[in-house]
Amino acid sequence: MTVTSMIYDDTNIFAKILAGDIPCDKVMETEHSLAFNDINPSAPVHTLVIPKGKYVCWQDFSTHASDLEITDFIRTIGRVAQAQGIAEDGYKVLSNALKNGGQEVPHLHVHILGGKPITLGL
Ligand code: AMP
Repeated sequence: MTVTSMIYDDTNIFAKILAGDIPCDKVMETEHSLAFNDINPSAPVHTLVIPKGKYVCWQDFSTHASDLEITDFIRTIGRVAQAQGIAEDGYKVLSNALKNGGQEVPHLHVHILGGKPITLGL
């Protein structure tokens, strides 16, 4: 599968959150990004940040998203960490990409994990 052939699944759970069809515990929203708390947290702070655009994974996003979307996404990650009170002590940012990355939801997301030392990946 090449990056250009990635097909976005409009029925994935994060697409439904973006469409307003199911609720989320929203932390922050910008023009191009949405941050909400993970429903099954692995740390005292476990927030997901997603782009509003239909990007399957990090590879898709980094190839096809506009500079504006990428800037907004990266800045939102930093702002979420600040707003969640974990910027000073530090945190881990993880993105699982596709099969070998262990990605379960096929809409790009990063996990922001903090509030305690984070020693493992997901
Ligand atoms: P990944 O394995 O990187 O695709 O992680 C998907 C993450 O989405 C998991 O940590 C789930 O707990 C989380 N998740 C699934 N459904 C929801 C939901 N409705 N609201 C918030 N987080 C969710």
